[in-house]
Amino acid sequence: PRPIEELVSALEETADSRKSVEVKDSVVHWFKMDLRLNDNKSLALASEKAKEAGVPLICLYIVSPQDFEAHLRSPIRIDFMLRTLQVLKEDLAKLDIPLYVETVDKRKNIPDRILELMEEWGSSHLFANMEYEVDELRREALTVRDLSENGKSFEVVHDSCVVPPGKLQSGSGKQYAVYSPWFRAWVAHIHDNLDLLELFDPPAKNPDGARKKYKKLFDCSVPDAPTNKQLADEEKKRFHALWPCGEHAAVERLHKFCEEKVGSYHNRRNIPSDDGTSCMSVHLASGTISARTCVRTARDRNKTKKLNGGNEGIQTWISEVAWRDFYRHILVNWPHVCMNKPFKPEYSNISWSYDEEHFASWCEGRTGFPIVDAAMRQLNHIGYMHNRCRMIVASFLAKDLLIDWRKGERYFMEHLIDGDFASNNGGWGFSASVGVDPQPYFRIFNPLLQSEKFDPSGKYIRKWVPELKGLDNKQIHDPYGRKAGPQAKKKGYPEPIVEHKQVRERALSAYKDGISNG
Ligand code: FAD
Repeated sequence: PRPIEELVSALEETADSRKSVEVKDSVVHWFKMDLRLNDNKSLALASEKAKEAGVPLICLYIVSPQDFEAHLRSPIRIDFMLRTLQVLKEDLAKLDIPLYVETVDKRKNIPDRILELMEEWGSSHLFANMEYEVDELRREALTVRDLSENGKSFEVVHDSCVVPPGKLQSGSGKQYAVYSPWFRAWVAHIHDNLDLLELFDPPAKNPDGARKKYKKLFDCSVPDAPTNKQLADEEKKRFHALWPCGEHAAVERLHKFCEEKVGSYHNRRNIPSDDGTSCMSVHLASGTISARTCVRTARDRNKTKKLNGGNEGIQTWISEVAWRDFYRHILVNWPHVCMNKPFKPEYSNISWSYDEEHFASWCEGRTGFPIVDAAMRQLNHIGYMHNRCRMIVASFLAKDLLIDWRKGERYFMEHLIDGDFASNNGGWGFSASVGVDPQPYFRIFNPLLQSEKFDPSGKYIRKWVPELKGLDNKQIHDPYGRKAGPQAKKKGYPEPIVEHKQVRERALSAYKDGISNG
């Protein structure tokens, strides 16, 4: 069975026994990638249960270095999460709800440790939102059973997508593997089930006495980054100024975007030098805001009060947020994408190049292709890259350098502040033409044309590749091909490491051969 089915079976098999569990001294919500109070389904359910029984709600977050490593969490993302936990702890404390944060070294010990903590706190009920990676689904299935055997209830609910995975099927009953029909079904499903856009209330205040009883939990602090890959002080300062953390910052960013930019999003979203997108990915990845709140807020601004029709910017933005749901649905339906495999098996046999120098040049932004280098330097400097550039550099790595896309996928996760397995895997699959709904492999981005089309004045390149600042608007896209070689060389900017036309042919035949051997 697919991992989601294992979890669903565990929930179904234990449904009766879980129902009969009586609430004891407290109820627990386990925070994972849902670091917010508002519109958090599991937290709202846990709070309701606790309130009904008149017992306190306790919140728990487990810091797991092994989990961070397994999920390739970047230091900047870990730092963002730990900062956010601090905000969360303060906000919860205002409601007399403790947030207990503990580090557990081995991820396999997490379920046992949760059980121990629940015993210590006299908790009968645990609630959490579902995460869709294979390991998480399997772990949760085991935990549901374990807790049930120990007379406790563990409720795991869908929350991170607007439409839960499994709800959309084509006319012939199949899961969609192509975005456009899937999106039409997504819109129709929400219009038919408008409760999917109802937002959940924040938790209620705990009863008097909770503070005294659980003083130790209120007093515990959020640990420092538990990995070796710590950020330097200079980096911390820079990232903290660039990426304000927590739920309040997320809401502020969303409202500012909706006030100022969503209307022009359709026209501006592809220009990397233009600050025309929302940057909500940073918050969506850590769950400081829900996708539901994003879609609901944008939709409410649309005159039609629908997801389609009306303002073009709003419609387009909602359709982008939908991509995030789409890739989560893919992950659940085809879990093999979680196991380092391309979506389509026939793409498993491409003979990749393992040229480490080329890979290093790509990582460091010194390929001699200014748009690629600008984008990689943006990623390395601020932990974020514009979507258009993500596509350009991913295509360049897989097609021009013929380097295994999984190396790029990994590098992104290790450096992005918004690193998200499903979206990153989907984006890489799409760009390397090995994924779901791929562009055909023979459609290969020409970095020069992309550069001229999406950064016509060279503003983005000038910002991130200062060596090329002095070149004119034509030369900047291709200094060595447009008579600005000596100037570029003098400033230390490298010559192109490959010749696009030539490597394009190499990619075409490698993909073709790979597929025929696949
Ligand atoms: P906006 O344009 O404002 O879009 C709003 C939201 O919609 C985003 O925050 C995001 O949640 C969602 N969204 C938009 N485009 C996509 C998309 N193509 N796929 C999935 N969701 C989308 N996104 C991540 O969140 N994490 C990743 O690790 C990630 N890796 C990517 C790797 C590659 C190779 C590619 C091509 C794309 C990747 N994306 C990833 C998708 C996209 O680039 C980012 O979501 C987007 O750039 C974030 O900026 P924004 O919040 O300003 O987006």
